[in-house]
Amino acid sequence: MDAGSITFPRRQTRQIHVGDVAVGGGAPISIQSMTTTKTADVDGTLQQIYALAAAGCDIVRCTCNELEAAEGLARIVPRSPLPIIADIHHQYRMALAAMEAGVHGLRLNPGNIRKPEHIKAVATEARDRGLPIRIGVNGGSLDPALYDKYGGRVTPEAMVESAMQELAYFDEVGFHDVKISVKASNVPLMVEAYRQLADATDHPLHLGVTEAGPPPAGLVKATAGIATLLAEGIGDTIRYSLTADPVEEARAGRQLLEALGLRERKNIDLIACPSCGRAEVDVIKVANDAMAAFGDREIPLQVAVMGCVVNGPGEARDADLGIAAGRQRGHLFVKGQNVAVVPEADMVEALVEWAEFIVENGTDA
Ligand code: SF4
Repeated sequence: MDAGSITFPRRQTRQIHVGDVAVGGGAPISIQSMTTTKTADVDGTLQQIYALAAAGCDIVRCTCNELEAAEGLARIVPRSPLPIIADIHHQYRMALAAMEAGVHGLRLNPGNIRKPEHIKAVATEARDRGLPIRIGVNGGSLDPALYDKYGGRVTPEAMVESAMQELAYFDEVGFHDVKISVKASNVPLMVEAYRQLADATDHPLHLGVTEAGPPPAGLVKATAGIATLLAEGIGDTIRYSLTADPVEEARAGRQLLEALGLRERKNIDLIACPSCGRAEVDVIKVANDAMAAFGDREIPLQVAVMGCVVNGPGEARDADLGIAAGRQRGHLFVKGQNVAVVPEADMVEALVEWAEFIVENGTDA
């Protein structure tokens, strides 16, 4: 079995649509993020949405916490390159205002909109407009009644029960266009909650480790939770909740899906050895300079930077393009062929030039 043919099974779910993005039912796993601007700041929010789209984001969420935000959404939605979900807490009327503003979907938190008549009023309106809703259970804002029922603790069972209660209200008004999340900041808790949820329903699931914190620790935490579930086939859309520029969230989401082979590669996949006492060049500098030089450019190639002859020639030969170093210079391989010898100082430039050449002309030219 070669590496390219290894795939993860996907859980069968029903499909919903957020604008023109399909979620669940075998659709590609979509990447989400959330703007950090005030939604009333129309230009600032649109700027962030465009940056998110360029970084690979598929669906964006904006808070709708006041009337000015709803008014902002009415002006943002027609100019947005991505479908927009309004994030609603506490005020069910904001959900109605957001739908009136033209958003493509809602996120409701069952922990803070609890009156059944309010929940059903929103679901009825969403049903009539053909809009999806995410039931977004969050460990930090669990319905107090469920918190008490489960012994004053946030448990996977309590989170799943919260989601299923909300789903039952939606069912009562014949609304089924739903995806669900059960996020927690504790990774084992979040993983178990999603596993139980996946057993309980066939609605598509939105994965996330909530409040993961700043990178790099936040990236590790979020990846631990999201990747574990994706490898089990659970998850139809994902969000990294980082204390960082949201573009970092979109980038991380894309890189994770590419690493798991769940999304077609758009950017460089850099394979570099960690370096050691045998290294013949400054591998860390060459690899970092190469990453910086490639940036977010659409060059879907595997590029290897290897510090010596131990694993160097093997990895460099297997990649689309690679350098295997030896005494301040390196053998440059293109699809397994040693095409040049370049000094250390020119390695990054040579990699970028060859990568551009391959993208334009292929490897047979
Ligand atoms: Fe060390 Fe060479 Fe392995 Fe790099 S490829 S880690 S330099 S032995």
